[in-house]
Amino acid sequence: MDYQGFFTSALDRLRAERRYRVFADIERVAGRFPQAIWHAPDGPRPITVWCSNDYLGMGQHPDVIAAMADTAQRLGTGAGGTRNISGNSHPIVRLEAELADLHAKEAALVFTSGYISNQTGISTIARLIPGCLILSDALNHNSMIEGVRQSGCEKAIFRHNDLDHLEELLRGAGDRPKLIVFESVYSMDGDVSPIHAMCDLAERYGAMTYLDEVHAVGMYGPRGGGIADREGAMGRIDVIEGTLGKAFGVLGGYIAASRAVADAVRSYAPGFIFTTALPPAVAAAAAASVRHLKRSGAEREGQQRQVARTKEALAAAGLPILPTETHIVPIMVGDAEACKAASDRLLEKHGIYIQPINYPTVPRGTERLRITPSPLHDETAIAELTAALVEVWGVLGLPLGRGRMAAE
Ligand code: PLP
Repeated sequence: MDYQGFFTSALDRLRAERRYRVFADIERVAGRFPQAIWHAPDGPRPITVWCSNDYLGMGQHPDVIAAMADTAQRLGTGAGGTRNISGNSHPIVRLEAELADLHAKEAALVFTSGYISNQTGISTIARLIPGCLILSDALNHNSMIEGVRQSGCEKAIFRHNDLDHLEELLRGAGDRPKLIVFESVYSMDGDVSPIHAMCDLAERYGAMTYLDEVHAVGMYGPRGGGIADREGAMGRIDVIEGTLGKAFGVLGGYIAASRAVADAVRSYAPGFIFTTALPPAVAAAAAASVRHLKRSGAEREGQQRQVARTKEALAAAGLPILPTETHIVPIMVGDAEACKAASDRLLEKHGIYIQPINYPTVPRGTERLRITPSPLHDETAIAELTAALVEVWGVLGLPLGRGRMAAE
């Protein structure tokens, strides 16, 4: 039996479909974000990163680094096992209190990633509701899709952010229990869901709501609670899910909900029970980041300002940006090979790192470069990015024209 052959032919299939992914070897430099070092085949070179999900640069914040380093010195490195075996580390207890307060919920429960929060959170919640029908947005993240699938519950997919379609499905479901799962900011198109209108429907048809705020926590709302915080809608959502790995700059995920929901997930979710907990130093660093962003709006304001300036500069240069109302700035390419070629040239010639986004992350024909300006991308960086993109678009013969895909 040629076992190795199965894997090499699987990889060959990806290459043939132009879906084989190559990751650059990058060394982040604390204190100098978004500058980093690219370990290129011919040696290290300085680069500027334009696609990080460390959206606010909190991964290098002195309070966050100090919390991680001090806690590791005092408590050591690992958690010592699952919480079932080793108990709760004190920093995790404090982090959960910080997160419950962030979302004005009775309780929060921390997982090892946002992915696991969704996968085990959605599947456990839905399984505990007898006869639950899950209504899931068509563009939900893979972790939510896996949560829905693993619940074993019946599901109905509504067209992306389509309230009429959702209502039709809710009406058709009658009075059985229902769980609506959706996101606030969709990370590839940078669009935002109508949270209040979704909650209106949920209330009208007696459904429970589960909202993924992974691309919004830390960045929106007066204390960084996300889009629901900004819109005054947190109290209307039953379960808010977030990550500690993007705007909070560390690692981990969580749900915030009523005491009963959080306790039930803690008691039933395999992805919580059977895995080693986050290290105390990671929990302490995440708590420091959450605490900082509750008090400080400077990072949020800086990000929104630099995002607006980046969008203006790219649009003025005629680059085909997808208009968004968020910090996510997609530049449409519409072809997998061209997208990879643009990304390669940006890195090799201009020292600018923007990972190509190809199928299956986005549908074929909507391949793009996804730019995420942070408060730390200054005017010089924006000017360099714009000039580099114009050069690359010219050399590769890519079409210019604002919002090309958005108009389709
Ligand atoms: N939810 C959404 C919408 C995401 O885009 C992601 C990751 O990119 C996740 C959840 C998973 O979060 P994490 O990276 O913390 O595992």
